[in-house]
Amino acid sequence: MVTKKKSTRVKGAKSRATAANRANPKTVQSAAYKEPGLMKRLATGAVVCAEGYVFELERRGYLQAGAFVPTVLQEHPEVVEQLHMDFVHAGSDVTQALTYYVHREKLRVIGREKDLEAMNQVALKIAKKVARKTQTLFAGDICNTNIYDPNDGKALKQVARIFEEQVGWAADAGVDYIVAETFSWGQEALMALDAIKKHSKVPAVVTFSIHRELVTREGWTAAETCRRLEAAGADVVGLNCHRGPRTMLPLLKEIRAAVKCDVAALPVPYRTTEEQPSFMSLTDPCCGDRRAFPVGLDPFVVTRQEIFDFGREAYAMGIKYLGVCCGAGPQHIRALAESLGRRPEGSKYSVDMSKHAFFGTDQKIKTVQTEYRSRL
Ligand SMILES: [Zn+2]
Repeated sequence: MVTKKKSTRVKGAKSRATAANRANPKTVQSAAYKEPGLMKRLATGAVVCAEGYVFELERRGYLQAGAFVPTVLQEHPEVVEQLHMDFVHAGSDVTQALTYYVHREKLRVIGREKDLEAMNQVALKIAKKVARKTQTLFAGDICNTNIYDPNDGKALKQVARIFEEQVGWAADAGVDYIVAETFSWGQEALMALDAIKKHSKVPAVVTFSIHRELVTREGWTAAETCRRLEAAGADVVGLNCHRGPRTMLPLLKEIRAAVKCDVAALPVPYRTTEEQPSFMSLTDPCCGDRRAFPVGLDPFVVTRQEIFDFGREAYAMGIKYLGVCCGAGPQHIRALAESLGRRPEGSKYSVDMSKHAFFGTDQKIKTVQTEYRSRL
């Protein structure tokens, strides 16, 4: 592993030199990917990947909705570690480092740029510890920068720098593969892929988001974007975030038909509709049709059964990289794993109503209770 130059990565030129060294196998003991890795697992079946950490940490009271920057990494690292463990217990095959929104631009917005590298390192360290302990895949993560603008050369340079430094840190930490996620621009997704290919030697999973309109912000369809990503060398392509299972499935069908590589699907666990196909567009009729995003989404959460059905349907379609994004709790990940015929550790506690006080069918349940059932 390259460790001695970590602190230089924040400086552009030196960072690039380090990355070049990394790409040269003669000079670097690579933090490379060892089998059985992601691609081998996908060749033989599905891979379940829990995402949506920032939403779950917000729900647990350790992260502020709005900027959605996981300062919890420094304030309560033990909570992040426990969340990773909870997702693995529920059936995630992957421990994905919580480096989502731990990039230069987001830290600039909250005035914490000085913590950039330290926060990335903490996230990678925690995820690696859990991954190695639980024998799950250790994934790096880069994401939408929020400054991508095709007409702003300066911004594009900053985007490239953000990807390069985060990929560098992930590669140095020895990730098994890197996820690039939640892009609204296809071109930004391509830039992220380019950084993974240039500055690491691990597989790239590239997922992006389709909002209300059925195209990326530059006007590419989901299928076309995936074709471009595949042609540019992505190992897995697909969709994550923003759309719930119902409004993501039709797009996944088109994507599956458009590419040869593995396809990823990580919807948000919300009941999105044709009229309101993304979680940001959902409005709550109970409350003056106010926008439900981000902290009023509770009444729209899908059931475990709905995630189970989604998993079945997507897998039957040939989609093997499956997960749940913002809003996902361990109960969703367990349902997804069970939809694939698995029994993760957490399945020990999956519902069994046979011994329920009123609805139970077990002989030990008194009829004085079961007879009252219809009046409950
Ligand atoms: Zn998400």
